[in-house]
Amino acid sequence: MVAMTAPDPLADAALRVIPGARHLHSGKVRDLYELDGGSLLMVASDRISAFDFVLTPDIPDKGQILTRMSLWWFDQLERLVPNHVISTDVPAEVAGRAVLCERLEMVPVECVARGYLTGSGLLDYQATGAVCGIALPPGLREGSRLTEPIFTPATKAALGDHDENVDYDTVVETVGDDVAAELRTLTLAVYAKAEEIARERSIIVADTKFEFGHREDGALVLADEVLTPDSSRFWPADRWRPGRPQQSYDKQFVRDWLTRDSGWDKASGEPPPPLPGAVVEQTRSTYVEAFQRLTGERFE
Ligand code: ATP
Ligand code: MG
Repeated sequence: MVAMTAPDPLADAALRVIPGARHLHSGKVRDLYELDGGSLLMVASDRISAFDFVLTPDIPDKGQILTRMSLWWFDQLERLVPNHVISTDVPAEVAGRAVLCERLEMVPVECVARGYLTGSGLLDYQATGAVCGIALPPGLREGSRLTEPIFTPATKAALGDHDENVDYDTVVETVGDDVAAELRTLTLAVYAKAEEIARERSIIVADTKFEFGHREDGALVLADEVLTPDSSRFWPADRWRPGRPQQSYDKQFVRDWLTRDSGWDKASGEPPPPLPGAVVEQTRSTYVEAFQRLTGERFE
């Protein structure tokens, strides 16, 4: 949902003036504008966040890489589910890093699919034996593959809060039986397809988050970004070893540096220190590698 009341967490300097576009909202990483005519311009910046902080400096090309990845996925999934993309013909100021999309009535549920156990799913399982109310067999470990992928929805937190995992009944209470069922079916179908495609390229999609919205005619449409390292966990398949944290194609490198080497105290509430050049460069090449391995295209 495009919240318009949230305070802008960014310095104005981070926002471009785009002719014909009205700024609506900025998340940690993306900026949203409304264009004349009512469509939405979704701009992916080069910002990177970790532990809910926006870090400095930016990761060069991140916005372009993730935008291209998301578009590639929308194409792959087109026969399974309609999506919100109208075109990539965008104002020159944001060329390559923005998508023009249909403005939808967003469903207030983060639709997460998990095929592997990690992150908040693992914590939930360790505490209760279940994830979002779905009981799992005993003996699973960090990184275990689930016998069947599961739908583990979350509700979107207010600015600054973590999303909260909820059970299926909560989704039903929020959006009704029919939409809840549709969300679950679509989420699992899209995840299964994506998992299969990525596996052929030796990448595991451990889990991912989708957002859906309604068109005026009631059709449910896949929106937001899809299957990027910011919305998913990608693991190199040949390095997968259940029982320990997995190597991943995202900002793991940044998180590791922050927690192990930077001297930053996560509990202090202080913002993290700037990333050294080597960490920035390594992170950029991880994104490039994920993009190239997945799509078979080169990123220049
Ligand atoms: P965070 O940085 O924690 O992700 P955020 O979710 O508020 O914060 P963004 O992800 O950048 O920030 O915001 C994108 C917003 O646009 C989300 O609220 C998302 O639900 C919304 N959105 C995505 N696609 C559409 C669409 N087609 N129509 C309307 N809103 C959309
Ligand atoms: Mg978001």
